[in-house]
Amino acid sequence: MTTSINIKKIKQSRICDIDFKNLQFGSQFSDHMFAMEYDDGHWQNHRIEPFGLIEVNPVSAALHYGQSIFEGMKAYRGVDEKIRLFRPQMNHKRLTASCERMCIPPVEEETFLSAIEELVRVDHEWVPPYEGQALYVRPVLFADEGNLDVRPANQYRFLVITSPVRGYFGADAPAVALKAEEKYTRAIQGGTGFAKVGGNYAATFLASSEGRQEGYAQILWLDGVEHRYVEEVGQMNICFLLDGKLVTPPLRGTILPGVTRDSVIQLTRAMGIECEERMIDIDEIIDGIKRGTLQEAFGCGTAVVITAVGSIGYRGKRYEIGNGKIGPFSQKLYETIVGIQRGEVEDVYGWTREVSIK
Ligand SMILES: *Cc1c(COP(=O)(O)O)cnc(C)c1O
Repeated sequence: MTTSINIKKIKQSRICDIDFKNLQFGSQFSDHMFAMEYDDGHWQNHRIEPFGLIEVNPVSAALHYGQSIFEGMKAYRGVDEKIRLFRPQMNHKRLTASCERMCIPPVEEETFLSAIEELVRVDHEWVPPYEGQALYVRPVLFADEGNLDVRPANQYRFLVITSPVRGYFGADAPAVALKAEEKYTRAIQGGTGFAKVGGNYAATFLASSEGRQEGYAQILWLDGVEHRYVEEVGQMNICFLLDGKLVTPPLRGTILPGVTRDSVIQLTRAMGIECEERMIDIDEIIDGIKRGTLQEAFGCGTAVVITAVGSIGYRGKRYEIGNGKIGPFSQKLYETIVGIQRGEVEDVYGWTREVSIK
């Protein structure tokens, strides 16, 4: 069933306020947003309207109990000027898993994809022109019912907003320093670590700020039981090139199943390189650094694609990896993924979805 989307356009575009040469991350938003509400057991009032403030019930379970989830993906402008989304069905699949975990009514794939595609189409001029830049697409789904009961709400809102974001520096990006975190915990099995739940992120701010004071850009999360097995980083999954193999933590409910992670695994196997999804003891990593068998380490996620890890801090000591630059294997993955997103490398997996501009 296709539900039509009502479109109400802004009178005067704000695009002339944007300096596309100096984009930041997530501080400027396109002219329109998608919105719909869930009530009486179904999603309704599908619409695109001018981006702006919304009214939220002060009693909303999103505000009080954190019943709120989100997603993140990008629309890319290709070398051929075509606009592409990268594996948005995977984001839908993950949103559905987040919905289930948080007792939120799901959104159908067709509705999800058409909301995003229609919004990107309406605001296609906001997809930035320079390499590495993109239009970040942020769906968010939250409870909005006037009832303080501690139970899943009966009314929800789904919004999609978009933001033109800066390019990452790719090969020239500085390698980041990570702090292996032994005091705080991001997720445990049975918790919400595999879902993009708002509260998961607020809970990491304190660890990040303490890490920054010690000179670390981001936290390398360890498992919540023993603080021993490597999990992931901020909004990135973590991968290591160890003894010629790609090694990354398994999906066992405590890490986000990243779209980029999945793409990295598929591309690595296609290169004929072995890939292991398994528990990784932090001691194995530190030992690999000392012995020189840890060749490369990188984080992967939509925001940055691939970011080299230049050092890991553990128990007060800092261990340097490589020469502080992105390694050749990480670089190859970066170029392949960005190439597919920009329509420069053949999309043999059918990962991209073009947004036609009517
Ligand atoms: C979003 C996110 C990722 C990366 O997922 P992608 O789909 O590749 O962007 C990894 N870890 C966490 C905690 C995240 O929130």
